[in-house]
Amino acid sequence: MNKELTLRLSIVGIYDSKIMIFDIKEQKIVEVRMTGSEGSLQCLSCKSDECLHAGFAFGILASKKSNTE
Ligand SMILES: [Zn+2]
Repeated sequence: MNKELTLRLSIVGIYDSKIMIFDIKEQKIVEVRMTGSEGSLQCLSCKSDECLHAGFAFGILASKKSNTE
């Protein structure tokens, strides 16, 4: 995972259908929702699926999945 992102963003909590991330630079908690079944993510803060938060959440899910399988 991008090192700059791991310094800037930290996981607050991982839930069934969302991931809460604390953005240190913006000093706020960002919620990324999992939409649909196959790993599509939507950042509620940026209203985007391509922002750094969605990318970070995607990386979390990918590593989580590889740990449990
Ligand atoms: Zn975002």
